[in-house]
Amino acid sequence: MRFIDLQTQYETYKGEMDKAIAEVLTSCQFVNGPQVAKLEATLADYVGVSDAVGFSSGTDSLLAVLMAWSIGPGDEVITSPFTFFSTAEVIAFLGAKPVFVDVRDDTLNIDPAQVEAAITPKTRAIMPVSIFGQCADMTALTAMARKHGLLCLEDGCQSFGGTHHGRRSCGLSDAGATSFFPAKSLGCYGDGGMVFINDKDLGVLLRSIREHGQKVRYHHTRLGMNGRLDTLQAAVLLTKFAHFEEEIAKRQTVARYYLDNLPAGVRGPTVLPENRSVFSQFTVRISQRDQVQAALGQVGIPTAIHYPIPLHHQPAFADRIDPSTLPVATRAAQEVLSLPMHPFLTVAQQDRVLEGLRQAVTQHP
Ligand SMILES: *Cc1c(COP(=O)(O)O)cnc(C)c1O
Repeated sequence: MRFIDLQTQYETYKGEMDKAIAEVLTSCQFVNGPQVAKLEATLADYVGVSDAVGFSSGTDSLLAVLMAWSIGPGDEVITSPFTFFSTAEVIAFLGAKPVFVDVRDDTLNIDPAQVEAAITPKTRAIMPVSIFGQCADMTALTAMARKHGLLCLEDGCQSFGGTHHGRRSCGLSDAGATSFFPAKSLGCYGDGGMVFINDKDLGVLLRSIREHGQKVRYHHTRLGMNGRLDTLQAAVLLTKFAHFEEEIAKRQTVARYYLDNLPAGVRGPTVLPENRSVFSQFTVRISQRDQVQAALGQVGIPTAIHYPIPLHHQPAFADRIDPSTLPVATRAAQEVLSLPMHPFLTVAQQDRVLEGLRQAVTQHP
């Protein structure tokens, strides 16, 4: 059994995938090939925004937006402590201060009431994370951002394809960024990312930042980065995107089966009625998490911990944040366990996971 089954996915789409990759190899347009612009237009349309800009990773996508907004020293950006490191890394990398506020216990997404309490005159932006495939409370957060004159960037690296009140993740605020890392809901065969916006000038700025701050070739009007999305990755993504909605539907079926059959002592994820999660992770909570994970490992059931250390406990931020704060995120990091989750998971495999889980929880109540 695999935690995420990229092998079966490749075998399923092999004919189309090999053809799409061969087309890039034949054209030799490895950088800025036509597949990149085609993917940007296709995914902008899917998300429901006017523009999308491909990047070399989710991290670079997030970084580029903050650069375009001139976030830097003296600025504060409010974000979640319960996320992958890069969410706050990009804030600190630009010399700004990540301000962590605690998450809700049910969704593990940032708590809007606590965001409002953390706003100071230095706050420039709010950066909610849509964790495990479910959007943060973007309705409350964007209203708050507007009220206080702040920018709002959704870290949608795990939620591409998810919806909030029927509108797609990454198109719900001033900017949304996603990642095409292979393990994400829509993954490429390496690193990739994309920014989604509704602002023409911001699109021009992001495309300039993506290519070393160039306006015209070899004329650099600002500092940027080498942040382009490869043509090969764009071709892979166009191929996978043709099956994406079908895969999301299969993920819903897998998640529903888990939710309906979780044994006692295992708390399943909560999806709020206004959201459709893409279940980039199916993450449960268990009090004896480490023992249960070890027991599952012994019977060949792969699991993962997203994430074992909240960001306010990371050594890289140790000098600036009090680790005794943010109790909900701190406790969640001790209890979370992600189960095998992908569109190709069979009922027989899920039954094995559930039976393993039942036995492990009985042994380690
Ligand atoms: C994966 C991820 C990122 C980073 O994306 P990369 O493509 O790996 O750079 C950022 N934020 C969250 C929440 C993620 O899950």
